Amino acid sequence: MKILVAVKRVVDYNVKVRPKSDGTDVDLANVKMSINPFCEIAVEEAVRLKEKGIATEVIAVSVGPQQSQEQLRTALALGADRAILVNTDETLEPLAIAKCLKAVCDAESPEVMLLGKQAIDGDNNQTGQMLAALLGCAQGTFASELTVEGDKLTVVREVDGGLLTVALSLPAVVTSDLRLNEPRYASLPNIMKAKRKQLDVMTPADLAVDIAPRVSLLGVELPAQRQAGIKVDDVAMLVDKLKNEAKVI
Ligand code: AMP
Repeated sequence: MKILVAVKRVVDYNVKVRPKSDGTDVDLANVKMSINPFCEIAVEEAVRLKEKGIATEVIAVSVGPQQSQEQLRTALALGADRAILVNTDETLEPLAIAKCLKAVCDAESPEVMLLGKQAIDGDNNQTGQMLAALLGCAQGTFASELTVEGDKLTVVREVDGGLLTVALSLPAVVTSDLRLNEPRYASLPNIMKAKRKQLDVMTPADLAVDIAPRVSLLGVELPAQRQAGIKVDDVAMLVDKLKNEAKVI
């Protein structure tokens, strides 16, 4: 079973992002970038399937600037076998990314496509669903458990108020939720080994993918600052304030 894992380069989750002074976008100057945490979970799951002898090859794919090679090298250090960068300096929206991934799938024919449930920069939660639609295949989103039996995948999905279990026929797209696994740390020898693993670079044009944007970003701003709270002496005072100041009861 060949597995393709989609890996996105995003602002590191520890960074407190700020808008550019003109509010046109998020300011990415001198900001630490990392592998999207949900993609790291997807890579870990693929590598575990390889270690169990279920997966034969794990291919990490990223769509983005040349620097995304750093995140692909991280995926290789975590255990992916080879990597593909679809190189573009344009900011792509989920549809264009899904089209690039579909083109790679057409060339590579993986049985399972593992993605993160969402990228923590745009919070789109769209790419996996769009990829499954473009491929015309099954999808199991928000996976917290994944098992492979023959040519079926069983995916336990985290949904509002509980768990929902689905069986998918292959090929299938699975998007990882937070509890799917706990990713390992890459060891130094594996980081060194990853430098020598195969990493192919191509462009959306090589894949004949139309990446023209359908959505334009109008602006970004920080949420309004919360006002400081006050302490009340007793319940009567609380009720009075809610009634006469906040006017919510
Ligand atoms: P999103 O739909 O943007 O929230 O992203 C969901 C998932 O799609 C991510 O966790 C990745 O697995 C994949 N993905 C999104 N953008 C990219 C990208 N530029 N390159 C590779 N994979 C991506």
